[in-house]
Amino acid sequence: MSVVGRFAPSPTGDLHVGSALAALAAWASARSQGGRFVYRVEDLDGPRAVPGSVERQVEDVRWLGLDWDEGPGVGGSHGPYRQSERDEIYEAALRQLAEGGHLFPCRVSRRDLQELASAPHGHDGQPPYPPSLRPDNLPPGWFDDEAACHDAALRFRVEAGTVAFDDRVVGRVEEDVRQSVGDFVLKRRDGVYGYQLAVVVDDLAMGVTEVVRGMDLLDSTARQVLLTRALGGEPPTTAHVPLLVRPDGVKQSKRNDALTVRELRDAGVEAEAIVGWLAAALGQGDARRRAPSEVAAAFDVDRVQPEPVVVPDGLADRLGAL
Ligand code: GLU
Repeated sequence: MSVVGRFAPSPTGDLHVGSALAALAAWASARSQGGRFVYRVEDLDGPRAVPGSVERQVEDVRWLGLDWDEGPGVGGSHGPYRQSERDEIYEAALRQLAEGGHLFPCRVSRRDLQELASAPHGHDGQPPYPPSLRPDNLPPGWFDDEAACHDAALRFRVEAGTVAFDDRVVGRVEEDVRQSVGDFVLKRRDGVYGYQLAVVVDDLAMGVTEVVRGMDLLDSTARQVLLTRALGGEPPTTAHVPLLVRPDGVKQSKRNDALTVRELRDAGVEAEAIVGWLAAALGQGDARRRAPSEVAAAFDVDRVQPEPVVVPDGLADRLGAL
């Protein structure tokens, strides 16, 4: 089967170096196997999207020297490539899940859940959703009944048991999703489709065979495996690449001014110097100037280590000297 990889950034600001690391790893992994590459914009959460950042991110990824076979500016047969334009596709998937008995409407709020909680909080900082709160019997056809769905979130029914998968960086992971998160939300009460639904539906629809992304999404993977199977699909392989942290060990994030590719570029750093440093952060040799094609030619996912990588202070100066 031919390999299809993807990069799926959320347009919440300029591309930070952590996203560039995930992009390079995903691209190099796919290209090193002669695979195709898809660029998808994850702009479901309208209020968090920063105007103009789709275009700026696309430009930054191109400037680094990466390309794609499907996505913004290129088109392709699995579009649209913006999640905000894919409502019908998500709605069809929800219908399929409802018909298979995997969904239920829920009006329990976050606060209700917090108040009920005796269990420790799970992945989302929330207590796992207890199966006792599921509705007893749902009438057939409830999905099309406006009264049944009005002001309700749609949750995925997680069956008891352990999900196991082999991440190409982390190794074997086992998770009891009922204990870690319980029945999770696929469509919010305000009508916004959930990240887990959109990612799974899009990866399936776009024929993605391998997911390479940041370590912060490792704990979404078991949920995505369950959802993929419920939709009758085969889960893609995964490789979760290390997070970038500040010298004090704190994760780089938009909130603490994560370093962006554009800042480095504006400071006069060249793309090949950034690519070389990112490749080194992925365990692919030392930090020297490299074209992305050179990284792909020698890319070996077994050399990627899961531990966070420190972005040193003054990275622009160091890269400038490469
Ligand atoms: N949109 C997510 C992000 O920007 C990535 C989702 C994924 O790769 O599954 O972090």
